[in-house]
Amino acid sequence: MGKSKIWLSSPHMGTVELKNVQEAFVTNWVAPVGPFINKFEENLSACTKVKHTAVVQSGTAAIHLALRLLEVGTGDVVLCQSFTFIGSSNPISYQNAEPVFIDSEPETWNMCPEALETAIKHHLNQGKKPKAILVVHLYGMPAKMKEITAISEQYEIPIIEDAAEALGSSINGKPCSSFGAFGVLSFNGNKIITTSGGGALQSNDEIAINKARFLSTQARDDAPHYEHSTVGYNYRMSNISAAIGVGQLEVLEDRVKAKRENHAFYQDLFKEVEGVHFLEEPKGFFSNRWLSCVVFDQEKNKKLNPDQFRIHLEQENIESRPLWKPMHLQPLYKNKQFFGGKIAEELFQKGLCLPSGSNLTLQEKDRIQNTILSFLDQ
Ligand SMILES: *Cc1c(COP(=O)(O)O)cnc(C)c1O
Repeated sequence: MGKSKIWLSSPHMGTVELKNVQEAFVTNWVAPVGPFINKFEENLSACTKVKHTAVVQSGTAAIHLALRLLEVGTGDVVLCQSFTFIGSSNPISYQNAEPVFIDSEPETWNMCPEALETAIKHHLNQGKKPKAILVVHLYGMPAKMKEITAISEQYEIPIIEDAAEALGSSINGKPCSSFGAFGVLSFNGNKIITTSGGGALQSNDEIAINKARFLSTQARDDAPHYEHSTVGYNYRMSNISAAIGVGQLEVLEDRVKAKRENHAFYQDLFKEVEGVHFLEEPKGFFSNRWLSCVVFDQEKNKKLNPDQFRIHLEQENIESRPLWKPMHLQPLYKNKQFFGGKIAEELFQKGLCLPSGSNLTLQEKDRIQNTILSFLDQ
Protein backbone atom coordinates (compact mmCIF):
# COMPACT_ATOMS: atom_id res chain seq x y z
CA MET A 1 0.00 0.00 0.00
CA GLY A 2 1.24 3.48 -0.85
CA LYS A 3 2.04 5.97 1.84
CA SER A 4 -0.77 8.37 2.72
CA LYS A 5 -0.38 11.88 1.41
CA ILE A 6 1.02 14.58 3.67
CA TRP A 7 -0.55 17.86 2.59
CA LEU A 8 0.87 21.34 2.76
CA SER A 9 -2.03 22.46 4.94
CA SER A 10 -5.33 20.63 5.20
CA PRO A 11 -8.57 21.44 7.03
CA HIS A 12 -8.45 20.74 10.75
CA MET A 13 -11.83 20.66 12.46
CA GLY A 14 -12.36 21.09 16.16
CA THR A 15 -15.08 19.48 18.23
CA VAL A 16 -18.06 21.86 17.89
CA GLU A 17 -18.16 22.60 14.15
CA LEU A 18 -20.35 19.61 13.27
CA LYS A 19 -22.65 20.29 16.22
CA ASN A 20 -23.05 23.89 15.00
CA VAL A 21 -23.87 22.71 11.48
CA GLN A 22 -26.45 20.32 12.92
CA GLU A 23 -27.96 23.18 14.89
CA ALA A 24 -28.21 25.23 11.69
CA PHE A 25 -30.07 22.33 10.06
CA VAL A 26 -32.38 21.72 13.02
CA THR A 27 -33.33 25.40 13.16
CA ASN A 28 -33.56 25.47 9.32
CA TRP A 29 -31.15 28.40 8.89
CA VAL A 30 -29.78 26.86 5.68
CA ALA A 31 -29.44 30.21 3.94
CA PRO A 32 -27.17 33.23 3.55
CA VAL A 33 -28.86 34.69 6.65
CA GLY A 34 -29.01 33.30 10.16
CA PRO A 35 -27.70 33.47 13.71
CA PHE A 36 -24.29 31.91 13.01
CA ILE A 37 -23.53 34.67 10.49
CA ASN A 38 -24.12 37.33 13.14
CA LYS A 39 -22.16 35.39 15.74
CA PHE A 40 -19.21 34.74 13.43
CA GLU A 41 -19.06 38.45 12.57
CA GLU A 42 -19.13 39.45 16.25
CA ASN A 43 -16.49 36.90 17.20
CA LEU A 44 -14.20 37.90 14.34
CA SER A 45 -14.46 41.55 15.36
CA ALA A 46 -13.53 40.61 18.93
CA CYS A 47 -10.63 38.46 17.69
CA THR A 48 -8.96 41.10 15.53
CA LYS A 49 -10.15 44.15 17.47
CA VAL A 50 -11.84 45.67 14.43
CA LYS A 51 -15.29 47.08 15.23
CA HIS A 52 -17.27 45.78 12.25
CA THR A 53 -17.13 42.64 10.11
CA ALA A 54 -19.08 41.42 7.08
CA VAL A 55 -18.62 37.75 6.25
CA VAL A 56 -18.69 36.77 2.58
CA GLN A 57 -18.01 33.77 0.34
CA SER A 58 -14.27 34.35 -0.11
CA GLY A 59 -11.34 36.56 0.70
CA THR A 60 -11.24 37.55 -2.95
CA ALA A 61 -14.84 38.79 -2.70
CA ALA A 62 -13.92 40.78 0.42
CA ILE A 63 -11.07 42.52 -1.44
CA HIS A 64 -13.44 43.25 -4.32
CA LEU A 65 -15.90 44.86 -1.91
CA ALA A 66 -13.11 46.94 -0.33
CA LEU A 67 -12.17 48.29 -3.76
CA ARG A 68 -15.82 49.11 -4.52
CA LEU A 69 -16.17 50.91 -1.19
CA LEU A 70 -13.06 52.96 -1.97
CA GLU A 71 -14.65 53.80 -5.34
CA VAL A 72 -11.84 52.24 -7.34
CA GLY A 73 -12.96 52.24 -10.95
CA THR A 74 -11.78 52.11 -14.55
CA GLY A 75 -8.16 53.20 -14.99
CA ASP A 76 -7.55 53.92 -11.29
CA VAL A 77 -4.16 52.89 -9.92
CA VAL A 78 -3.98 50.41 -7.04
CA LEU A 79 -0.55 49.77 -5.53
CA CYS A 80 -0.38 46.05 -4.84
CA GLN A 81 2.25 43.86 -3.24
CA SER A 82 3.65 41.69 -6.03
CA PHE A 83 4.67 38.75 -3.84
CA THR A 84 1.24 37.27 -3.16
CA PHE A 85 -1.50 34.92 -4.31
CA ILE A 86 -3.56 36.12 -7.24
CA GLY A 87 -6.64 36.45 -5.03
CA SER A 88 -5.11 39.75 -3.85
CA SER A 89 -4.90 41.32 -7.29
CA ASN A 90 -7.69 39.79 -9.38
CA PRO A 91 -10.32 42.11 -7.85
CA ILE A 92 -8.33 45.11 -9.16
CA SER A 93 -8.97 43.72 -12.64
CA TYR A 94 -12.67 43.10 -11.84
CA GLN A 95 -12.92 46.88 -11.37
CA ASN A 96 -11.02 47.59 -14.62
CA ALA A 97 -8.43 49.37 -12.50
CA GLU A 98 -4.65 49.25 -13.01
CA PRO A 99 -2.57 47.14 -10.64
CA VAL A 100 0.89 48.60 -10.09
CA PHE A 101 3.09 46.02 -8.41
CA ILE A 102 5.50 46.68 -5.55
CA ASP A 103 8.46 44.51 -4.60
CA SER A 104 9.07 43.00 -1.17
CA GLU A 105 11.74 43.83 1.38
CA PRO A 106 13.91 41.00 2.74
CA GLU A 107 12.98 41.21 6.44
CA THR A 108 9.27 40.30 6.25
CA TRP A 109 9.03 39.39 2.53
CA ASN A 110 6.16 41.86 2.32
CA MET A 111 5.66 45.24 0.64
CA CYS A 112 8.83 47.33 0.57
CA PRO A 113 8.00 50.80 2.01
CA GLU A 114 10.71 52.50 -0.09
CA ALA A 115 9.49 50.99 -3.35
CA LEU A 116 5.95 51.93 -2.35
CA GLU A 117 6.89 55.56 -1.84
CA THR A 118 8.81 55.64 -5.13
CA ALA A 119 5.71 54.35 -6.94
CA ILE A 120 3.48 56.93 -5.25
CA LYS A 121 5.82 59.80 -6.17
CA HIS A 122 6.06 58.55 -9.75
CA HIS A 123 2.29 58.53 -10.15
CA LEU A 124 1.80 61.88 -8.39
CA ASN A 125 4.32 63.39 -10.82
CA GLN A 126 2.12 62.11 -13.62
CA GLY A 127 -0.91 63.72 -12.00
CA LYS A 128 -2.39 60.35 -11.10
CA LYS A 129 -2.98 59.78 -7.41
CA PRO A 130 -3.21 56.05 -6.57
CA LYS A 131 -6.54 55.06 -5.04
CA ALA A 132 -5.39 52.37 -2.61
CA ILE A 133 -2.44 50.46 -1.16
CA LEU A 134 -2.99 46.71 -1.05
CA VAL A 135 -0.54 45.20 1.41
CA VAL A 136 -0.32 41.50 2.28
CA HIS A 137 0.90 39.65 5.39
CA LEU A 138 2.30 36.71 3.47
CA TYR A 139 2.58 33.30 5.13
CA GLY A 140 1.33 34.97 8.32
CA MET A 141 4.27 37.34 8.72
CA PRO A 142 3.06 40.90 9.34
CA ALA A 143 4.22 43.53 6.85
CA LYS A 144 6.08 46.64 8.06
CA MET A 145 2.84 48.40 8.99
CA LYS A 146 4.44 51.28 10.90
CA GLU A 147 6.30 52.47 7.81
CA ILE A 148 3.47 51.68 5.40
CA THR A 149 0.87 53.40 7.58
CA ALA A 150 3.07 56.50 7.76
CA ILE A 151 3.24 56.60 3.95
CA SER A 152 -0.51 56.01 3.70
CA GLU A 153 -1.14 58.95 6.04
CA GLN A 154 1.40 61.26 4.41
CA TYR A 155 -0.03 60.78 0.92
CA GLU A 156 -3.62 60.18 2.09
CA ILE A 157 -3.99 56.87 0.29
CA PRO A 158 -6.06 54.26 2.17
CA ILE A 159 -4.73 50.78 2.98
CA ILE A 160 -6.48 47.52 2.21
CA GLU A 161 -4.84 44.92 4.38
CA ASP A 162 -4.90 41.42 2.93
CA ALA A 163 -4.70 39.34 6.12
CA ALA A 164 -5.99 36.20 4.34
CA GLU A 165 -2.97 34.27 5.61
CA ALA A 166 -2.50 36.15 8.85
CA LEU A 167 -5.41 35.55 11.21
CA GLY A 168 -3.77 35.31 14.64
CA SER A 169 -0.69 37.35 13.68
CA SER A 170 0.11 40.72 15.24
CA ILE A 171 2.62 43.52 15.71
CA ASN A 172 3.22 44.53 19.33
CA GLY A 173 -0.09 42.87 20.19
CA LYS A 174 -2.09 44.72 17.52
CA PRO A 175 -3.79 42.11 15.31
CA CYS A 176 -3.28 41.90 11.57
CA SER A 177 -6.42 43.11 9.74
CA SER A 178 -6.76 46.02 12.20
CA PHE A 179 -4.20 48.40 10.65
CA GLY A 180 -5.81 49.46 7.38
CA ALA A 181 -9.00 51.24 6.35
CA PHE A 182 -10.13 47.70 5.51
CA GLY A 183 -8.90 44.30 6.63
CA VAL A 184 -9.52 41.10 4.70
CA LEU A 185 -9.62 37.53 6.01
CA SER A 186 -9.98 34.22 4.18
CA PHE A 187 -11.38 30.90 5.37
CA ASN A 188 -10.50 28.83 2.32
CA GLY A 189 -9.77 25.14 2.88
CA ASN A 190 -6.02 25.61 3.21
CA LYS A 191 -6.08 28.61 5.57
CA ILE A 192 -5.35 28.51 9.29
CA ILE A 193 -9.07 28.15 9.99
CA THR A 194 -11.57 27.23 7.32
CA THR A 195 -15.28 27.32 6.55
CA SER A 196 -14.55 25.28 3.37
CA GLY A 197 -14.65 28.59 1.54
CA GLY A 198 -15.26 32.03 2.95
CA GLY A 199 -13.89 35.43 3.76
CA ALA A 200 -14.48 38.57 5.78
CA LEU A 201 -14.21 42.29 5.31
CA GLN A 202 -13.41 44.29 8.44
CA SER A 203 -13.38 47.98 9.24
CA ASN A 204 -13.98 50.39 12.09
CA ASP A 205 -16.24 52.30 9.69
CA GLU A 206 -19.76 51.03 10.41
CA ILE A 207 -21.31 52.71 7.38
CA ALA A 208 -18.78 51.06 5.08
CA ILE A 209 -19.40 47.58 6.50
CA ASN A 210 -23.17 48.06 6.28
CA LYS A 211 -22.66 49.00 2.66
CA ALA A 212 -20.50 45.89 2.15
CA ARG A 213 -23.42 43.76 3.41
CA PHE A 214 -25.75 45.64 1.04
CA LEU A 215 -23.42 45.13 -1.95
CA SER A 216 -22.86 41.46 -1.08
CA THR A 217 -26.61 40.75 -1.21
CA GLN A 218 -27.30 42.13 -4.71
CA ALA A 219 -27.60 45.78 -3.57
CA ARG A 220 -31.32 45.65 -2.94
CA ASP A 221 -32.80 49.03 -2.07
CA ASP A 222 -35.32 49.49 0.72
CA ALA A 223 -38.68 48.71 -0.92
CA PRO A 224 -41.31 45.93 -0.74
CA HIS A 225 -40.47 44.88 -4.29
CA TYR A 226 -36.98 44.35 -5.75
CA GLU A 227 -35.55 47.80 -6.41
CA HIS A 228 -31.92 48.34 -7.52
CA SER A 229 -29.93 51.48 -8.18
CA THR A 230 -26.38 50.11 -8.20
CA VAL A 231 -24.57 46.91 -9.18
CA GLY A 232 -24.28 44.38 -6.39
CA TYR A 233 -22.96 40.85 -5.95
CA ASN A 234 -24.13 37.55 -4.56
CA TYR A 235 -21.23 37.33 -2.10
CA ARG A 236 -22.86 36.73 1.29
CA MET A 237 -21.62 33.84 3.42
CA SER A 238 -23.95 30.94 4.14
CA ASN A 239 -25.12 30.34 7.70
CA ILE A 240 -23.77 26.78 7.30
CA SER A 241 -20.27 28.05 6.57
CA ALA A 242 -20.56 30.53 9.43
CA ALA A 243 -21.56 27.66 11.74
CA ILE A 244 -18.25 25.98 10.89
CA GLY A 245 -16.42 29.29 11.28
CA VAL A 246 -17.75 29.91 14.79
CA GLY A 247 -16.37 26.54 15.85
CA GLN A 248 -13.06 27.04 14.06
CA LEU A 249 -12.45 30.42 15.65
CA GLU A 250 -12.64 28.79 19.10
CA VAL A 251 -9.56 26.71 18.26
CA LEU A 252 -7.57 29.44 16.48
CA GLU A 253 -5.12 29.80 19.35
CA ASP A 254 -4.39 26.05 19.30
CA ARG A 255 -3.91 26.18 15.53
CA VAL A 256 -1.42 29.05 15.81
CA LYS A 257 0.46 27.15 18.49
CA ALA A 258 0.67 24.02 16.32
CA LYS A 259 1.77 26.03 13.27
CA ARG A 260 4.50 27.72 15.28
CA GLU A 261 5.64 24.34 16.57
CA ASN A 262 5.90 23.15 12.94
CA HIS A 263 8.14 26.09 12.17
CA ALA A 264 10.33 25.37 15.19
CA PHE A 265 10.51 21.72 14.08
CA TYR A 266 11.91 22.71 10.67
CA GLN A 267 14.30 25.27 12.14
CA ASP A 268 15.65 22.58 14.41
CA LEU A 269 15.85 20.01 11.61
CA PHE A 270 17.89 22.33 9.38
CA LYS A 271 19.94 24.05 12.07
CA GLU A 272 23.23 22.38 11.15
CA VAL A 273 22.70 22.73 7.39
CA GLU A 274 24.57 25.52 5.71
CA GLY A 275 22.68 27.72 3.26
CA VAL A 276 19.16 27.29 4.68
CA HIS A 277 17.30 30.45 5.71
CA PHE A 278 14.05 30.99 7.55
CA LEU A 279 11.83 34.02 7.81
CA GLU A 280 12.62 35.45 11.25
CA GLU A 281 10.19 37.57 13.24
CA PRO A 282 11.39 41.16 13.63
CA LYS A 283 11.15 42.49 17.20
CA GLY A 284 7.50 42.80 18.28
CA PHE A 285 6.24 40.87 15.23
CA PHE A 286 4.23 37.71 15.85
CA SER A 287 3.54 35.36 12.93
CA ASN A 288 0.88 32.64 12.95
CA ARG A 289 3.37 30.69 10.78
CA TRP A 290 0.53 29.63 8.48
CA LEU A 291 3.05 27.96 6.21
CA SER A 292 6.63 27.13 7.18
CA CYS A 293 8.97 28.31 4.43
CA VAL A 294 12.66 27.72 3.74
CA VAL A 295 14.96 29.57 1.38
CA PHE A 296 17.87 27.63 -0.08
CA ASP A 297 21.14 29.31 -0.94
CA GLN A 298 22.68 27.03 -3.55
CA GLU A 299 25.79 29.20 -3.75
CA LYS A 300 26.57 28.25 -0.15
CA ASN A 301 25.42 24.65 -0.44
CA LYS A 302 25.03 23.16 -3.90
CA LYS A 303 22.96 20.22 -2.65
CA LEU A 304 20.09 22.60 -1.98
CA ASN A 305 18.28 22.55 -5.29
CA PRO A 306 14.66 23.50 -4.51
CA ASP A 307 13.19 21.53 -7.45
CA GLN A 308 15.08 18.36 -6.61
CA PHE A 309 14.13 18.76 -2.96
CA ARG A 310 10.46 19.14 -3.87
CA ILE A 311 10.53 16.10 -6.17
CA HIS A 312 12.32 14.04 -3.52
CA LEU A 313 9.48 14.81 -1.08
CA GLU A 314 6.86 14.16 -3.74
CA GLN A 315 8.25 10.66 -4.29
CA GLU A 316 7.41 9.98 -0.65
CA ASN A 317 3.92 11.45 -1.17
CA ILE A 318 4.83 14.58 0.80
CA GLU A 319 3.59 17.87 -0.63
CA SER A 320 5.80 20.94 -0.79
CA ARG A 321 5.52 23.93 -3.11
CA PRO A 322 7.53 26.85 -4.45
CA LEU A 323 6.76 30.18 -2.80
CA TRP A 324 4.16 32.39 -4.52
CA LYS A 325 5.19 33.45 -7.99
CA PRO A 326 5.23 37.27 -7.94
CA MET A 327 2.40 38.95 -9.81
CA HIS A 328 4.71 41.10 -11.95
CA LEU A 329 6.14 37.84 -13.40
CA GLN A 330 2.74 36.37 -14.25
CA PRO A 331 1.78 36.20 -17.94
CA LEU A 332 -1.52 37.86 -17.00
CA TYR A 333 0.26 40.98 -15.79
CA LYS A 334 3.25 41.14 -18.14
CA ASN A 335 2.40 44.69 -19.25
CA LYS A 336 1.84 46.11 -15.77
CA GLN A 337 4.18 48.46 -13.97
CA PHE A 338 6.50 47.20 -11.25
CA PHE A 339 8.55 49.13 -8.69
CA GLY A 340 11.47 47.51 -6.91
CA GLY A 341 14.25 45.03 -7.50
CA LYS A 342 14.60 41.29 -7.35
CA ILE A 343 13.64 40.42 -3.77
CA ALA A 344 10.33 38.72 -4.57
CA GLU A 345 11.75 37.12 -7.71
CA GLU A 346 14.65 35.55 -5.82
CA LEU A 347 12.41 34.32 -3.04
CA PHE A 348 10.31 32.60 -5.70
CA GLN A 349 13.41 30.99 -7.22
CA LYS A 350 14.97 29.83 -3.97
CA GLY A 351 12.11 29.18 -1.57
CA LEU A 352 9.78 26.35 -0.68
CA CYS A 353 6.72 25.90 1.52
CA LEU A 354 6.95 22.76 3.64
CA PRO A 355 4.10 20.65 5.03
CA SER A 356 2.53 22.89 7.66
CA GLY A 357 -0.75 21.36 8.76
CA SER A 358 -1.75 22.07 12.35
CA ASN A 359 -2.95 18.43 12.26
CA LEU A 360 0.43 16.87 11.40
CA THR A 361 0.94 13.77 13.55
CA LEU A 362 4.21 12.78 15.20
CA GLN A 363 4.45 9.87 12.75
CA GLU A 364 4.01 12.25 9.84
CA LYS A 365 6.67 14.56 11.21
CA ASP A 366 8.99 11.55 11.50
CA ARG A 367 8.31 10.69 7.87
CA ILE A 368 9.02 14.27 6.82
CA GLN A 369 12.20 14.35 8.91
CA ASN A 370 13.51 11.05 7.49
CA THR A 371 12.74 12.13 3.94
CA ILE A 372 14.50 15.47 4.37
CA LEU A 373 17.50 13.83 6.03
CA SER A 374 17.74 11.26 3.23
CA PHE A 375 17.81 14.13 0.71
CA LEU A 376 20.55 15.91 2.61
CA ASP A 377 22.58 12.69 3.01
CA GLN A 378 22.53 11.63 -0.62
C1 LIG B 1 -6.19 32.86 0.09
C2 LIG B 1 -5.76 34.22 -0.22
C3 LIG B 1 -6.61 35.16 -0.79
C4 LIG B 1 -7.96 34.85 -1.31
O1 LIG B 1 -8.82 34.25 -0.44
P1 LIG B 1 -9.95 33.29 -0.99
O2 LIG B 1 -10.82 33.09 0.22
O3 LIG B 1 -9.29 32.03 -1.45
O4 LIG B 1 -10.67 33.99 -2.08
C5 LIG B 1 -6.15 36.44 -0.99
N1 LIG B 1 -4.90 36.78 -0.65
C6 LIG B 1 -4.05 35.91 -0.12
C7 LIG B 1 -2.69 36.38 0.25
C8 LIG B 1 -4.42 34.59 0.09
O5 LIG B 1 -3.55 33.71 0.57
